[in-house]
Amino acid sequence: MADPSRSTSSGAAKKPSPRNPRCAACKFLRRACSPEECRLAPHFPASQPERLQSVERVFGMRKVLELAHKAGPEYLDDILSSIVYEAEAWGRDPVWGPTGVVGALELEIGTARADLAVLQGQDQDQPPAVATLPEPELPRPPADDGAG
Ligand SMILES: [Zn+2]
Repeated sequence: MADPSRSTSSGAAKKPSPRNPRCAACKFLRRACSPEECRLAPHFPASQPERLQSVERVFGMRKVLELAHKAGPEYLDDILSSIVYEAEAWGRDPVWGPTGVVGALELEIGTARADLAVLQGQDQDQPPAVATLPEPELPRPPADDGAG
């Protein structure tokens, strides 16, 4: 018989040690975390809780994990890094989000191509290879239904 006065210390309700905190995602999801083994920890480190807040605000963390689960573990890192990037882009630019980043990069590419054309000594009659940006469709952030 087991001694009832003696508490079981192994395996039951392990509290995270202060030296080994849970990652921000596991803390949010209220689950155990081993930062060395947790696949969410590289994307949501405990030292950067604002990342998780961005993802939660734009997409909802549970939806993101549902999506990642459906896609399969081999895509987890790609999905999470792209979702974190997109959520942070929406945080920086609430109007254009990641489309603004793409537009700025396309503009930069167009300028570089024009500069290259000039440097290559192309005929002035030919129009320089400036990228004309089509009017981008405005992506809409997912509805914020996780609040409340
Ligand atoms: Zn974790």
